[in-house]
Amino acid sequence: MIDVAPLPLRTASVPRETAFSHMSRLAAANKVDLREFGFELGIPFQRILNGERDMIRILALLGGTDHECLQHWSGTKLEGRRHELCGEIYPAKTIRSPEIRGCPICLKQDASSSERSPEHSMAIRGHWLVPHVTICLAHEHPLVPLWRETQPFARYDTVTQFRSIAPAIVAGEFDREIRELTDFDKWLEARLVDGPGNGWLDLQLLIVTEN
Ligand SMILES: [Zn+2]
Repeated sequence: MIDVAPLPLRTASVPRETAFSHMSRLAAANKVDLREFGFELGIPFQRILNGERDMIRILALLGGTDHECLQHWSGTKLEGRRHELCGEIYPAKTIRSPEIRGCPICLKQDASSSERSPEHSMAIRGHWLVPHVTICLAHEHPLVPLWRETQPFARYDTVTQFRSIAPAIVAGEFDREIRELTDFDKWLEARLVDGPGNGWLDLQLLIVTEN
């Protein structure tokens, strides 16, 4: 049992939010540099990025959020340059692409439903990291590239990244034409939420090869 009290200054996690996004926003709510925040509280950012269970658990306690949700929607580093996300195994470079994508409508809603500044409110969802996910099912809006950053620490420091683009997102500059959902979009959504079903597609591993 870990004895950690929630921080007095915290920000509610968004459904499906990744641990790195939540931690970045939690540090910002406390006006502390992300790296310093991690070391002060014994949860170094790198270990959160690795998805270490005890670290995610402490982060969830500090943020007053559910650790199982946070873990499910965050990548966990495995041996052999592989990552697990939403119960699926991927080559690390697939899940940890330099490009971060998102749904601008979801992000605008994050901003409008919070009293905090847009960059402190906008959250990256775990399913947006899965390359096969190309659309937001809630808004039928294609996922769009938000930023590209090769250095992992900077890539996942979401508050810093959103600081420069949040005004453009709010202004609708990232909006694209919506499109209809395909059966694959719906199947993939169900698989990420509930795990494999009984259809023939479900027997296939989502991604098994590394080029
Ligand atoms: Zn959306």
